[in-house]
Amino acid sequence: MELTNLAKSLVAFRTEVPPGDEEECAKFVRDVIADMKIEGTEVTLDKFEHRRANVVARMGPQEPGLLLGGHLDVVPAGDESAWSHPPFDASLSDGKLFGRGAADMKAGLAAMLKAIEAAAKNKKLKRGLLFVGTAGEEMGFEGLKSVLDQRLVGEGSAIFGVLGEPTGLRPVRAHRGGATFTVTFRGSSGHASKPELGVNAIEECARFVDGLAAWSSGVAATTDPDLGATIATPTVVRGGTKSNVIPGSCELTVDSRWIPEHGSAFVKRGLESVADSLRRKDRTFAAEVEMLYETPALKLPRDHPAVVLAESASGAASETAAYGTEAALYTKHGVPSVVLGPGSIKQAHMVDEYVRLSEVQRALSIYVKMIESVCLA
Ligand SMILES: [Zn+2]
Repeated sequence: MELTNLAKSLVAFRTEVPPGDEEECAKFVRDVIADMKIEGTEVTLDKFEHRRANVVARMGPQEPGLLLGGHLDVVPAGDESAWSHPPFDASLSDGKLFGRGAADMKAGLAAMLKAIEAAAKNKKLKRGLLFVGTAGEEMGFEGLKSVLDQRLVGEGSAIFGVLGEPTGLRPVRAHRGGATFTVTFRGSSGHASKPELGVNAIEECARFVDGLAAWSSGVAATTDPDLGATIATPTVVRGGTKSNVIPGSCELTVDSRWIPEHGSAFVKRGLESVADSLRRKDRTFAAEVEMLYETPALKLPRDHPAVVLAESASGAASETAAYGTEAALYTKHGVPSVVLGPGSIKQAHMVDEYVRLSEVQRALSIYVKMIESVCLA
């Protein structure tokens, strides 16, 4: 199957998460790799939940080489009638492939698979080649966590990794870490006609949000030269039951992006310190901070061999990104990884998402160069 058709086939799988339905797509990728008949190929389908699977393929010798990785899942298409190119039709127009996941990141996966075929088929690999297609990336990296927990990709099992997320073909070598918190406020409910008899949890939340803004501006004084500052942003509020009842509880979600100098524990302590200082002023104030999940930060120095390789293969200088990726998890796992793929992050998660076919073709040649220099040289 040639490149465009492969990308189209991948887009046609409805791998939206939630709910996550990646198994058929993972099986398809497994078969595509098996059909290449590359020497020493071993493909594993990691079925970690009902209808959900990752695919891990190793090719060539055991000697650590290059890891190519990406995710099979996409974010939901939302209201499909808002799309002028139906999200899973994978239609072509104007040199672009349209569809949910076209840019993020099924075109990247297609380019990687075709690059593996072009560089490794009928060749004697000197170092191993790994391909990992994960499920549930858009939901806290659940698929990759399963792959790493089961040691399907062992620590240090590749010298470098590259993730094919949409970076406009410019290598990304650093991004902040992420953490999501909930802060629960406990008031006491009562009739709204007598607010003095209750403790209003929504008002507690409002005071906390003010305190959080003050804490954030203090924290912004420390910056990372590459990544800027740690931020914590209130994103969801849930509270109250009825218009004439003092709300007895309220829950706030805080999204945080932290620099490696700080870490998620620093942010958690910060949120707790905001609550503590409000409690000192008012004994009735009650809030509990809980971290739901976190994702690691990525920070490879400019002169790291993985960055040097990605820059020379792409002909573009490396940069930093605002979003988090699986590259951070691989790097933590002893496989230093960069992010480099076709399409624009601005297209990701949008209606009428697309990727330019010329960019997908260029991605293929970049990945071929990377495979050749790590696994064949
Ligand atoms: Zn993505």
